[in-house]
Formats: sequence, C-alpha cells, structure tokens
Amino acid sequence: MAELPLVVIVGAGFGGLTLARRLAKAPVRVLLIDRNNYHLFSPLLYQVATAMLDPAEIAQPVRKLIRGQRNCDFLQAEVRDLDFSGRQVITDRGRVRWDYLVLATGSATNYFGNASLKERSYGLKQLPDGLSLRNRVLDRFERSRWEESVEARRTMLSFAIIGGGPTGVELAGALAELIHLVLRKDFRGLDVGETRVTLVEGGDRLLPAFHPSLSEAAARSLRRKRVDVRLGTLVEEVHPGEVVLQDGTSLAADTVVWTAGVRASELGERTGVELGRHGQVPVGPTLQLEGHPNVFVIGDAAGLDDLPMLIPVAMQQAKHVASALTRLVAGAAPGTFQFRDPGIMATVGRNSGIAQLGRIRLHGFPGWAMWLGVHLMNVVTFRARAVVLLNWAWDYLFYDRPIRIMVSAAPAAPEGDHGASAARAAGTTTSSM
Ligand SMILES: Cc1cc2nc3c(=O)[nH]c(=O)nc-3n(C[C@H](O)[C@H](O)[C@H](O)COP(=O)(O)OP(=O)(O)OC[C@H]3O[C@@H](n4cnc5c(N)ncnc54)[C@H](O)[C@@H]3O)c2cc1C
Repeated sequence: MAELPLVVIVGAGFGGLTLARRLAKAPVRVLLIDRNNYHLFSPLLYQVATAMLDPAEIAQPVRKLIRGQRNCDFLQAEVRDLDFSGRQVITDRGRVRWDYLVLATGSATNYFGNASLKERSYGLKQLPDGLSLRNRVLDRFERSRWEESVEARRTMLSFAIIGGGPTGVELAGALAELIHLVLRKDFRGLDVGETRVTLVEGGDRLLPAFHPSLSEAAARSLRRKRVDVRLGTLVEEVHPGEVVLQDGTSLAADTVVWTAGVRASELGERTGVELGRHGQVPVGPTLQLEGHPNVFVIGDAAGLDDLPMLIPVAMQQAKHVASALTRLVAGAAPGTFQFRDPGIMATVGRNSGIAQLGRIRLHGFPGWAMWLGVHLMNVVTFRARAVVLLNWAWDYLFYDRPIRIMVSAAPAAPEGDHGASAARAAGTTTSSM
C-alpha cells in the first residue's frame, strides 16, 4: 500500500498547531517542527513580564498537545533553509523531506536597523523576553532600595515602553499596577513618586487599529494609573539611562521595552520570492506560494490583502489550509481563503479594557470582562485555564502578584554530534509513521 503523503508544518504557534490538529483525520502524515518544544500563548506574555503568571501557564509542551493524534509527530529543530528542488527543509538537526510544506513561522521583533535599540531595549515577543523583563523590573527595585542618591534611584526606577499598540498598552498598565498596588507594599520605604512608567507612541493616538473613542478611553485609563502617555513622540536612540527623542530632547529610562516594530520571520527570505510589507511572503488567495502548489504560507509570515498579524488570521488560515490539503490529496482544487473579522480587544489593567466587535464598542469594566472571558477560554489546556483563573482571582481580590521571583536558567549543555543523529532518527520515524 502506498505511503500517505507527508505534510511538514514549520512552526507550532497558533497557525501551525491549529493546522496539525485539523489534519487529525485527513489521509496524511503530519510532522510539526518548531525550534521550541512548546506552544506559546503570546497574548498573556506581558503577564509573565509583570509577575502575574508563570511561563508554564502560557506555554504548553507541543508533544502534550498532539499526543492523542496518531498521524502527527514533532521534531524540535530550527529550520534554516528550504530546498525546493529536493523538497526538503534544512534544519540544524538535518534534512526533512516534504510532500506538502506549510510555513507558519510567525514574526519577530523589528528594530529597523537601529543598533542602540536592539542592544539596549527589551523585546516582548518570546517567552524568555517575558522572563528577562520580569527579572529586570524586580532587580531595579531591589537595587534602588539600597541606593542613597535620589537621582540615581529615580533613574533606576524609570521604565519606558515604546509603542502604543496592544502590547505596549497592556504592559504599561500592568507594570504601573505592579508598582503601585504590589511593590509599594513590599518596599515599605519606597517613595512611589520616584518611579515612572512612560508609554511613548509615535502616532497621534494609542491603539490605532481601534476606533478613536476607544483609543482615548485607553489613554485616560492609563493616565489614571499614573502612566505618562506621550503621543506624537518618536524615538531616535537608546542610551544607558535615557531615551533620546527625534526632537532632540530625552527622557530618563533605565529600562526600555521596544514593542513598536514587528517583521515576519526570517525564513521567508529562503522562499526566493520578493517579500512584501513587514517582510511577509506574498501568497495568493489559496495561500499557496506562487510557482509551488505544494507549499503554503500562513499566519504572520504570510502577506495577503494587508491582513493584520493577529491570532484569528493565523487560525482561520490554518483551517483553510487543512481543508485545502485534504482536497489536494483527493485531486480537487484547494479553494480560496476568506477572512471573517471576529473583532479586536485589549486590556489596560484591572476593571479596564476595550473591545471592538463590528459596530459594538465596549470600554471600562464591560471591555475588561469580555477580554478576560475570551482570553481565559483560549488558554490552550484545561489545567492552564484553571491556574490562570486562580492567579487572576488572587490578584484581583488581594492586590497581589504571586510570581515575584528573579530566576534565570543556566545555559543549556552543548549538543555536540547528537543534533544531527537526532535529525536522522526523526526523519526515519516520520517516514515510517
Ligand atoms: C506579546 C504579544 C501579544 C499579542 N497579543 C495578541 C492578542 O491579544 N490577540 C491577537 O490576535 N494577537 C496577538 N498577538 C499576535 C499573535 O501572537 C500572532 O499574530 C500569532 O501568534 C501568529 O501566529 P503564527 O502561527 O503565524 O505565529 P506564532 O504563533 O508566532 O508561531 C510561530 C512559531 O514558529 C516557530 N518558528 C519560527 N521560526 C522558526 C524556524 N526557523 N524554525 C523552527 N521554528 C520556527 C516559533 O518558535 C513559533 O512557535 C500578540 C503577539 C505578541 C508578541
């Protein structure tokens, strides 16, 4: 009997994981590849950075998520290149052959070539970013406690978040609450007047994807939380202890977080096609790569009709590709993708959120309640959902952020030759699935 075709999916994020699961009953074998062994629920990453949640609550092992799926296996590897003539992905653990390939490699922080930003600011894209930032914030408070110079303390306790999109707004609100509601109690001698959280946005309003009335509601709510919201402010460079602005002035900031730029994953460059906006790989309405009917690109990595880099886009495209692949295997045409906009939302802190669902606009408590419900339901496993709910309830009732510990992992042991042999084993396993 002929072997079932092998679908190789690169990326176990929202697009890749949804696709793998959707192919559970399709007449194909599936190999999911990711550089990390976990799937990250990115919308709550800012809560790891602000001591609300632990990594295990927002990241789940891929193997656990696919273990009930007999036609699917996982390879932890970094995909470095694509060999279209040999139909192989080239990973740091060897080559893997595909019958069908789906690139779902997401996006990365974009510093627009600004070296000072890249070197001196924190990103908030990957799980280690969230942990680094949490350590940094807690470290600044521990150090400032024993610093005698008021000036030095003020600098140490100044935080600038650059980028007034959802990530910047959510982080600014959560950081201000961490300082004013929690750390203030830990550091009894702390004068909160010496702390400063500044949110810097280049445009004339926060959250430009939302209706202007919701942008204003978010800015008002942040200001009530004592966040210094600076609109129409462009950053030139980051120096130690300060952010230099394009108008020649500067603002004190010992910790700078950059959330203002994103670009599609670098793997897109290996497709050989001319990349579009944000470095995305242009795809047609079927989501196939031009000239390669067996190759699809989905999610943040794909450029189609200026769709935003959001989870619903990645998940809907994954569902489309699952049915397109099933049709292709059966000898039918793949069909075209159509996006249905489910709305957007963001939270600014306790009792304060905004949501825009078609013509319905919510802010304040209703927006917050909706944000809470939607995000809770989408946390991937039941256990994580329960723990997240418990942490949120604890924080809400007791004004407490339980994860106020600084911890960093020792570097992983070098892999030596094991990498390549593991890749060969993975290749053999998948072809014998
Ligand atoms: C902090 C933050 C908050 C966000 N909040 C929201 C929100 O509230 N709502 C919303 O809709 N969207 C939100 N987004 C955007 C959302 O996360 C993305 O749109 C979504 O994850 C895109 O899904 P994807 O499958 O394309 O990529 P991802 O989910 O990013 O998955 C890509 C996967 O590919 C892997 N990968 C990349 N390159 C390689 C390689 N070369 N080899 C192997 N593996 C590779 C990565 O490790 C990753 O697991 C947020 C993003 C961030 C960073």
